[in-house]
Amino acid sequence: METTTQHPIFDLLKTHFGYDQFLPNQEEIINNVLDQKDTIAIMPTGGGKSLCYQLPALALDGTAIVISPLIALMKDQVDALKANGISAAFFNSSQPYEAQQQILKNLQNGELKLLYVAPESLPQLNFILNSIKISLFAIDEAHCISTWGHDFRPAYTQLKSLKEQFPKIPLIALTATADRATREDIANQLTIPNAKIFIASFDRPNLYLDVRPGQNRNKQILDFLKRHRDENGIIYCLSRKSTEKLAATLSANGYRTEAYHAGLTSEERTQIQENFLNDSTPIIVATIAFGMGIDKSNVRWVIHYNMPKNIDGYYQEIGRSGRDGSPADTILFYSFADVIMLRKFAEGSETETYQLAKLERMQQYAEALSCRRKALLGYFGEHITEDCGNCDICKTPPKYFDGTLIAQKVCSAVARLQEQEALGMVLDVLRGSQNAQVFDKGYQRLKTFGAAKDIPWRDLQQYAIQLLNQGVLQIYFHENGRLLLTPLAKKVLFEEKKVRLANLLQEKEQPAIEK
Ligand code: ADP
Ligand code: ZN
Repeated sequence: METTTQHPIFDLLKTHFGYDQFLPNQEEIINNVLDQKDTIAIMPTGGGKSLCYQLPALALDGTAIVISPLIALMKDQVDALKANGISAAFFNSSQPYEAQQQILKNLQNGELKLLYVAPESLPQLNFILNSIKISLFAIDEAHCISTWGHDFRPAYTQLKSLKEQFPKIPLIALTATADRATREDIANQLTIPNAKIFIASFDRPNLYLDVRPGQNRNKQILDFLKRHRDENGIIYCLSRKSTEKLAATLSANGYRTEAYHAGLTSEERTQIQENFLNDSTPIIVATIAFGMGIDKSNVRWVIHYNMPKNIDGYYQEIGRSGRDGSPADTILFYSFADVIMLRKFAEGSETETYQLAKLERMQQYAEALSCRRKALLGYFGEHITEDCGNCDICKTPPKYFDGTLIAQKVCSAVARLQEQEALGMVLDVLRGSQNAQVFDKGYQRLKTFGAAKDIPWRDLQQYAIQLLNQGVLQIYFHENGRLLLTPLAKKVLFEEKKVRLANLLQEKEQPAIEK
């Protein structure tokens, strides 16, 4: 029986990895694994997950089997281990037959302390695994096993039988995704109900959290870049086409930038990554294909051109900035059009309900009227008592006013349009727009036509969104996204129910930092 006292883990930390101290939770996690217990380790990106299985792999007899979905990163990880004098290898379908045979031989002879395997390739090893001494199983990116997570990988489902097949071998599942449902699902799927769960803090106090209305994004980005010359940053877009368009705009304005997306060849992608890592391309405009495994310490900002589909993704993406601990800026552009598009993507998928629930949480975050960090950490099950002082809401708290009259006007327009029209048309009618569609439908004759012509379009749109959030209005997402009245709306219309609205736009149009 191996016990922790026989393994001076601090010595291993120093001699093999060159560190003097553990990062938060690493020591406890490592001791749990060394005690032969199952573990679920939840740590933010950059939290030091790898060490949690690499160090026990050295301390224990036998070979650690590391299951990782990121074939592209296996080689780097193995090279890094070898550079530290640790015998390690990887096994996946991208390797030539001879190389695979050599690795299998080394494995059989017990020459490897760690073997990285793609989940798809695991069945090929099954036979040998039964005949060798295995120190532990590590399942990296363990959320991939859960359809509740944000990137389910079918190949992960076969890991369900690992524990049954190897009941005595400690298993450690690692992930940076930590909402409670996913967390519990990981334990269920891997059949490790007694696993000890370690959750490191997700707080990254050096990241400034800013959410802005999505109007005039290009101009807002150019303004931002002017004030952040020579800094490295990433802009995330939803579509390939928008990465290319935005990169072209930035280039035309004199910025060194490249677009990155899954439509490029793998050589092109590697080259762009390389250019970013060595600072020759400081700005990358990318889809979410970019960034997995990128360990660059001096990324100073991350901008979301579109709203991400869930908080997990958002958090990982902003987490790529400020890894050196120095202040970093993050900006999320929020538009209702994005929400509608993301809903369309989710609809009809097998996991529609979960995806829509996650999207809703994301939307709530974007629309939060109190400290963003509280909302963000709350999602990960962490609760802070003080406001953070480093988000847009803390810096410029929204100003409230009595919005009852505006709410009445909006509700009355929705009613007069027979709840048949989407937000855009409702606003057009309220503003008395001369738009042809309005006239085609004869809406200029409605009593509410022009009732809010004194309120600028964008403000009015903001107010309508707040009415949606307050449950006064509702969107019927299926057809054209038409607006519906809720019971609350009837109270606003007929019972003089008071409505508070926040003045968000004037404050946010100019970023807080500029003042
Ligand atoms: P994750 O997989 O959680 O994103 P990594 O395992 O890649 O994180 O580690 C993130 C960074 O932290 C790496 O550069 C790693 O070398 C470093 N690191 C890990 N453990 C320690 C430690 N105990 N002390 C200092 N740096 C560490
Ligand atoms: Zn805050």
